[in-house]
Amino acid sequence: MSDRTKFVLDENDMPTSWYNIAPDLPGEQLPPPLNPQTDEPIGPADLAPLFPMELLKQEMSMERYIDIPDEVQQVLKTYRPSPLIRARQLERSLGLSDGVKIFFKYEGVSAAGSHKPNTAIPQAFYNKQEGIKRISTETGAGQWGSAMSIACALYDMECTVYMVGISYRQKPYRRSLMETYGANVIQSPSNLTEAGRKGLLTDPDAHGSLGMAISEAVEDAFSREDTHYCLGSVLNHVCLHQTVIGQEAILQMEMAGEEPDVVVACVGGGSNFAGLTFPYYRRKLDGKTNTRILAVEPKACPTLTAGEYRYDLGDVAGMTPKMLMYTLGHDFMPADIHAGGLRYHGDSPLVSKLVNEGAAEAVAVNQTACFDAAVQFARNEGILPAPESSHAIRAAIDEALAAQAAGEDRTILFGLSGHGHFDLTAYESYTSGKLKDYDFAAGSVGE
Ligand SMILES: *Cc1c(COP(=O)(O)O)cnc(C)c1O
Repeated sequence: MSDRTKFVLDENDMPTSWYNIAPDLPGEQLPPPLNPQTDEPIGPADLAPLFPMELLKQEMSMERYIDIPDEVQQVLKTYRPSPLIRARQLERSLGLSDGVKIFFKYEGVSAAGSHKPNTAIPQAFYNKQEGIKRISTETGAGQWGSAMSIACALYDMECTVYMVGISYRQKPYRRSLMETYGANVIQSPSNLTEAGRKGLLTDPDAHGSLGMAISEAVEDAFSREDTHYCLGSVLNHVCLHQTVIGQEAILQMEMAGEEPDVVVACVGGGSNFAGLTFPYYRRKLDGKTNTRILAVEPKACPTLTAGEYRYDLGDVAGMTPKMLMYTLGHDFMPADIHAGGLRYHGDSPLVSKLVNEGAAEAVAVNQTACFDAAVQFARNEGILPAPESSHAIRAAIDEALAAQAAGEDRTILFGLSGHGHFDLTAYESYTSGKLKDYDFAAGSVGE
């Protein structure tokens, strides 16, 4: 690790606007979200009970660049710009030739340990500005809940988090972190909402799913005047807020004197992928790079590689609009893989569109192969990756080995979306040989 090369930007180099990919999408514009009952297109007024107007404007905006408010920049600068690092020791351990290089952009430096505060902070800011006092949201593995909890604490708002039941029990430390930041954490399905009570009838052990937790959080926000709902991925404004990642990475790769041949990120709802790759997509349109863009997802929840491209609901109960996206079906119950953040049935409509138009590629990988990669990465680079991020590492290593085998040069940039300090149970089951693979496309969906 002694010669690890880190490309550090000054805080004044942090981007001052977000990049909105909507006006630059290939093919036709994104079609509007639809009312879940009537299938009529919905507009800002329909969503106003849930979101502040500024975020709704961003959700539907066709402006290419949107200013980041100064107040938001100040908070982002407490941990940004994030580092971009050349993984030299990993390269050596793989026996790569000089022409095959691996770089990663590390988002584990935030309070929540992932990229999620990049959007939690502006979301809290705009809600506070609109006079909202309380936020309801959901969380799977706990990463989004932690990000929203700290953001609400910073803006002095209450935060209620519906946490997927199985994670609530299996990840007590994420729950403790949220409670330490002042949030009220509820096991989902719960008996506090109509959706939750219905869910408990068929799921009495409260195993839960992200789709169910979303239904509960949305119902909570609809039922109270002082409360808005926040979502940590999928939506256009969330992808927008994450584009600070890729804009910084472009500057840092320039510092390194390199242009990536492939940019890789894992996809759950698509936001960290969007954050890293959308600015590179723009750079391609500007003719400054020829990079491929590669999305990586779990074989247990292969939305982009085995899902259908069609309108579907974002949640189980039909509280959310229908969106055109890749989906495995809104009632899909994924196997209990450790990458909790990648177990969502759908995907960002923007990311789905890029894949559908052939502007981005997608691959699915098994979790044991991901943990092999994560452990190799940890032993060489010293950073313990989140299980979600290990999917990007797996694909980055596979890209490097393929280039090496073909005798080609290749510069690979991947997104390390977060650290895995709260995921040691997963590492324990890996090191004790208990980790299993689930392949949805091959008919194995877990117990
Ligand atoms: C939540 C999360 C993801 C998946 O969400 P996206 O919106 O697809 O980025 C990936 N990595 C980490 C570390 C996460 O916390």
